[in-house]
Amino acid sequence: MVDKHVQMGRYFSGILTIGGIILLANEFFPDILQNTYKLYVNIAAVVLISVGLIGLTSFVKCSSCGLKLMVYSMRNNSFTDWLSWVLEVKECPSCKHQFNQNKE
Ligand SMILES: [Zn+2]
Repeated sequence: MVDKHVQMGRYFSGILTIGGIILLANEFFPDILQNTYKLYVNIAAVVLISVGLIGLTSFVKCSSCGLKLMVYSMRNNSFTDWLSWVLEVKECPSCKHQFNQNKE
């Protein structure tokens, strides 16, 4: 069992990644889709990215004190580190609650 915030983090970062990949694929391989579909696919990708980001910021929290780990990480870590920090953090920076990081 892993801590709930890790599961939520993986889940929402997955959604975020899928949205990002769709958006990039659409951008770099413009011939895959016809223009009529492209707009809808882009909107869907933006929705996925928004859901991923909102999920990460609102649902990934300390199970003990409720500290929003994603918001904390965004304030204290660089852009390239914040997601991995959230998924790997072993102790709540606020209440020192220990997170269970066992790989199932
Ligand atoms: Zn805490």
